[in-house]
Amino acid sequence: MEAQESGEHKYVYDFAEGNKDLKDLLGGKGANLAEMTNLGLPVPPGFTITTEACKAYLTTGREPDGLAAQIEAHLESLEREMGRRLGDPDDPLLVSVRSGAKFSMPGMMETVLNVGLNDRSVVGLSNQAGGNDRFAWDSYRRLIQMFGKTVCEVPGEEFEHALDEIKSAKGTHNDLDLDADDLRGLVDAYKKIFAKHTGREFPQEPREQLDLAIRAVFDSWNAERAILYRRQERIPADLGTAVNVVAMVFGNLGPDSGTGVAFTRDPGSGAQGIYGDYLANAQGEDVVAGIRNTVPLQELEQLDKTSYDQLLGIMARLEEHYKDLCDIEFTIERGKLWMLQTRVGKRTAAAAFVIAGQLVDEGLIDLDEALHRVNGAQLAQLMFPRFQLDHEFEAVAKGIGASPGAASGKVVFTSARAVELAAEGESVILVRRETNPDDLNGMIAAKGILTSRGGKTSHAAVVARGMGKTCVSGADELDVNVPAKRFTVGGHVVNEGDVVSIDGTTGKVYLGEVPVMPSEVVQYFEGELDPENTDDALVRSVHRIMTHADAARRLRVRTNADTGTDAARARRFGAEGIGLCRTEHMFLGDRRELVERLILASGEREREDALAALLPLQRADFIEIFREMDGLPVTVRLIDPPLHEFLPPLEQLAVNVAVAQERGEDVAKEEALLAAVRRMHEENPMLGLRGVRLGLVIPGLFAMQVRAIAEAAVAVVRDGGKACPEIMVPLVGAVQELETVRAEAERIIAEVVGDSGVEVLIGTMIEVPRAALTAGQIAEAAEFFSFGTNDLTQMGWGFSRDDVEGAFFWRYLELGIFGISPFESIDTDGVGRLIRIAAEEGRAARPGLKLGVCGEHGGDPDSVHFFHEVGLDYVSCSPFRVPVARLEAGRAAITTTGSDSR
Ligand code: ADP
Ligand code: MG
Ligand code: MG
Repeated sequence: MEAQESGEHKYVYDFAEGNKDLKDLLGGKGANLAEMTNLGLPVPPGFTITTEACKAYLTTGREPDGLAAQIEAHLESLEREMGRRLGDPDDPLLVSVRSGAKFSMPGMMETVLNVGLNDRSVVGLSNQAGGNDRFAWDSYRRLIQMFGKTVCEVPGEEFEHALDEIKSAKGTHNDLDLDADDLRGLVDAYKKIFAKHTGREFPQEPREQLDLAIRAVFDSWNAERAILYRRQERIPADLGTAVNVVAMVFGNLGPDSGTGVAFTRDPGSGAQGIYGDYLANAQGEDVVAGIRNTVPLQELEQLDKTSYDQLLGIMARLEEHYKDLCDIEFTIERGKLWMLQTRVGKRTAAAAFVIAGQLVDEGLIDLDEALHRVNGAQLAQLMFPRFQLDHEFEAVAKGIGASPGAASGKVVFTSARAVELAAEGESVILVRRETNPDDLNGMIAAKGILTSRGGKTSHAAVVARGMGKTCVSGADELDVNVPAKRFTVGGHVVNEGDVVSIDGTTGKVYLGEVPVMPSEVVQYFEGELDPENTDDALVRSVHRIMTHADAARRLRVRTNADTGTDAARARRFGAEGIGLCRTEHMFLGDRRELVERLILASGEREREDALAALLPLQRADFIEIFREMDGLPVTVRLIDPPLHEFLPPLEQLAVNVAVAQERGEDVAKEEALLAAVRRMHEENPMLGLRGVRLGLVIPGLFAMQVRAIAEAAVAVVRDGGKACPEIMVPLVGAVQELETVRAEAERIIAEVVGDSGVEVLIGTMIEVPRAALTAGQIAEAAEFFSFGTNDLTQMGWGFSRDDVEGAFFWRYLELGIFGISPFESIDTDGVGRLIRIAAEEGRAARPGLKLGVCGEHGGDPDSVHFFHEVGLDYVSCSPFRVPVARLEAGRAAITTTGSDSR
């Protein structure tokens, strides 16, 4: 075009000039319209205005230089191709103006159909359609309605109200019963509504309609709901939208016309077949608007066999071309099929796995590519128990699936009531308009949380995800009345104590208790379902993809496990060792008494006695774990929390003492404990006497643990097993701390293992920022590093996790200070930088230094990719996250050129 020849920036592309890989520039819709055009499929001609033009407009507040002329040039060539001029009174060309960003944002932005109609061209349109007045006036009233609503912010209800009035005056509910005169009257009514709200007449000039509609699409990028949606879906805010101008085709020309949507496979289950809806004599948006009942796509075969067969052929062609599930919008104009949109379709987690497997079978993709068609978040979803849904259960509302899981329970409206009922052993669902930090106790007590407001970053959503609790947020059909202790939804009244069920994955809300069924994917990981011998397509596909991920990945995957039971389960889930075995639980229960003795010991003797009593108990714990992990490495962390955590709380002790004194009982022990608790009180226990500091301050404590570990290893080896213990010192900040602990530990280990052949590694956690920054020194005394990313995040950001998540993280997310909680996904810029430095400097000082991570981030998909990239040897995570980490480690190791599942 002329514009480019003069060396000017190109802002407008004909469909023939684009292709599917230009989504950044042309948006998803435009890129795929271009792709279909170039495949020779029947796409109405048109052109795309780039996201760059949109960005320029949004930053400067006006259309960039040259844009108007380029639009003019492309419009002229469209007019030539169609043999009609935009809005020509005798024979008008009409166009649609459609938004389309890089990522689909369903329903978020604007589209205007029938641009080019006015009081004169409406007559021309009728003539074009062989004197079909009804059609022409129906198209015109739709233009005024859509243009008014999306371009000029006229409240949509007013138009709907006027339509309802005409229908009820005619005594009908069906808009097809309105004739041309009715619709002409409706156009008049719409124009009045338009003028009333905008202070001007409906624009009659076609080119002005077009320009205003384009501008409205640009502006819709920054509409409030679009901003909220992007935040929820983590879509960057600066992409902008493209605008597609497409010649109109008409599905509302009569019974031989219509419009529909289709999927090339079932997006719910992945099953092959034809899935879609069709509506005769209708224009685009009617299908989804639900104003008339659609019919299943299969029925099109009876209505118009030629178009149906052609459509099926095109769907097969698209699948083969995109090598994936596609969804499609089409229109039939008097027996002629037109393709209006396609894209790689969204799908459920189960369908993602099933389809990836099918496409491999069909030879369309290889296993490397299949690995990129699924992701760890989807696998995690499939590992939650699900509701067993049949016809009896129909959702009464749908909110946002804010934190996955399936939960049923009695409805409560206050935190206090949630705590009360939970204490009585009831399952409760806490229902609120939105939660706030005061609801924290109730949220902890509840099985699930349901709110009528707020999105994925609301307080309820953020806190629930942090707690791993099921949550549905923003179920706005719910009218929640907290003082009256009830909510209403679709004519139902739900009172406190009534049972509801919520699905934190789909966001659906059900009345009554829906039975829960176990996940077949977990059954498979548990070894209860044989993947080679099941007709469950999902399990077969998961097995195949996991096997491929395991073969591909470089990162090893270990688990965090403190007991033999957890260790055994994690091993079934594929763990290749234990990356974090905490020892503190070994000081709880009936062993508390020994810990109290240790703390209260008045001399060396008493302390040694207490430790000596703990030794065999710890040894037995370790033997159990080493046996379960036979042959695999087990990293045991020496005791980490402050010792006062093992004592009863101050208030409770004070009461005990008072009561006992009252009764005249002997209170010597309680008083001693009380004094100890007062003495050991810390303002900031997270930064107090804990971790390695305990080992350096309390003689014999670490020595006892090291001895128990070494003795357990020797015992297992003597029994014919293989134990590979790794002793991990927590909270080290300076190499001198580690050296001191190490010297003593080495002495004990040498003494215990003798010639048994047992080898014990000694290493440290890197969780204090100073340790990361002096990693070169620390590596001299450590055979391995394990990054404790929870503490590293706490201390890196100065966040006390328990305090900040409930108090203000939602606000930080809202403000975009971070896009996701740094406790959920590693903050690669800051905390990640500490990890990078420590890995590099540690390895430089000690080549072959083993590097792992044992915070919860070890099971977070994005974090796993980061740890792969930084070159760690392994990640360690909770047993249920082990499969997720295996999958993501495989995906991180394989880079493909194909599409990537977001
Ligand atoms: P959305 O992204 O919300 O689906 P679209 O831009 O796809 O919005 O348009 C909304 C509806 O209008 C769709 O059903 C689409 O198929 C229909 N439509 C868009 N452009 C045309 C056109 N040129 N001719 C006929 N129908 C159209
Ligand atoms: Mg569409
Ligand atoms: Mg820690």
